[in-house]
Amino acid sequence: MKFHVITFGCQMNAGDSDWLSRSLTAKGLTPAPEGEADLYIVNTCSVREKPELKVYSVLGRLAEYAAEKPGLFIAVGGCVAQQVGTTLWRRFPLVRLVFGADGLAAAPQAILRLINEPKLRISLLDFFDAYPERDPAWPEATVPAQAFVTIMQGCDNFCAYCIVPFVRGRQKSRKSDDVIAECRDLAARGAREITLLGQNVNSFGLDTAGDGTSFATLLRRAAAVDGIKRLRFTTSHPKDLSPEVIAAFADLPELCPSLHLPVQSGADAVLSRMGRRYDAARYLHLVEGLTKARPDISLSTDIIVGFPGETEEDFCKTLELVRTVGFESAFSFMYCDRPGVAAQSFEPKIPLEIKAERLARLQALLDDLQTAGLSRRVGTRTEVLVEGASRRPKPGQPSWRGRDPGGRVVDFTYAGPDDPTGTFVPVEILEAKKHSLRGKAV
Ligand code: SAM
Ligand code: SF4
Repeated sequence: MKFHVITFGCQMNAGDSDWLSRSLTAKGLTPAPEGEADLYIVNTCSVREKPELKVYSVLGRLAEYAAEKPGLFIAVGGCVAQQVGTTLWRRFPLVRLVFGADGLAAAPQAILRLINEPKLRISLLDFFDAYPERDPAWPEATVPAQAFVTIMQGCDNFCAYCIVPFVRGRQKSRKSDDVIAECRDLAARGAREITLLGQNVNSFGLDTAGDGTSFATLLRRAAAVDGIKRLRFTTSHPKDLSPEVIAAFADLPELCPSLHLPVQSGADAVLSRMGRRYDAARYLHLVEGLTKARPDISLSTDIIVGFPGETEEDFCKTLELVRTVGFESAFSFMYCDRPGVAAQSFEPKIPLEIKAERLARLQALLDDLQTAGLSRRVGTRTEVLVEGASRRPKPGQPSWRGRDPGGRVVDFTYAGPDDPTGTFVPVEILEAKKHSLRGKAV
């Protein structure tokens, strides 16, 4: 049977989809392009409105393939599945499996049952107290040089705007030995860079499912795994970023000089209504500590504009904080109401035109900062972990693409005889483009 996975949302969803594809492949199914599959898996996100609407339009589109493929069925996983549940199969009869964050580990087995029992539908929407371990599922002996390792599921923070704790459940850490065993296995199969994933990695280990190992200790153990040359993690909540994790940036050469630290707003009044439990001064203090520990650290962030009650003055404080920190990149969003979250009842709501205008001003500033950050790299030498060929290689043009330690995308020319994918190549940076760097191997 041929399957195709469609993924929406964050890196955690991308990591989940990767595992699901590997697990199905290991069970004898074959990945196929859209239009050729008999089974579609849609891994959804409901953090903002648009992704949810996109899911419905994708399900409509997939239904059209059924005319050519009798027996075609669809599995829907992730946040939208958790939220909408089995009503999905009333609206879209081809949907025969819905699974939430905690149901993912059992989804491959459920899919095998559905293949054999064409009249069955299965719902895997329960939350569990412990992290549901997944089988490692590597059908091939070797793995790509960059790998993701999920270290926890869910979130306990209940930020006023956020649906995640409702759709992904309460925080559940994996046991640290399981995390390290997966890192070792990946390194033994060829992984050189590992990104540790969770909604709030800084509070790893401290929930009832965890084993009490702090995130700083986990970082040190992961950095010590033989073969791991680069370590990254995402996402961090500023309120839980400990001095020990900041110190790790100074002490662990494997820990890359880049950090995604969502600030959301630069105005204390807004941060307080968001329930973020830090203020702008505390955030700037963390940034100072991080840059002292690692002067070359590249910082990125998430920002919401137009949170209920945000004034022009509040918004200007966000612009000021963004300028002070000098983020090299950021995801910025207009606030949108999500069902059941506290901010749904907060007033006054900000009109769409004002949100759009603030977002445009913020993004113009972020673009300038990104260009400045990239331009500062011109003339320097760096090491690129090669991900593959450049998107549109032309003769005499950069032919390979990868990332520097700061996470910046680098396209570079390379005269070597072999495919350098998965290796570290020293590169001289010659030019800054809008969102990436160009250079040549040296
Ligand atoms: N756990 C991470 C954190 O605390 O920053 C990321 C959570 S969320 C999946 C990713 C981003 O979506 C958030 O950082 C926030 O900026 C944005 N977001 C979440 N809910 C939102 C909403 N209701 N409206 C607009 N943006 C939202
Ligand atoms: Fe959502 Fe806040 Fe949890 Fe991040 S920390 S997932 S923004 S509730």
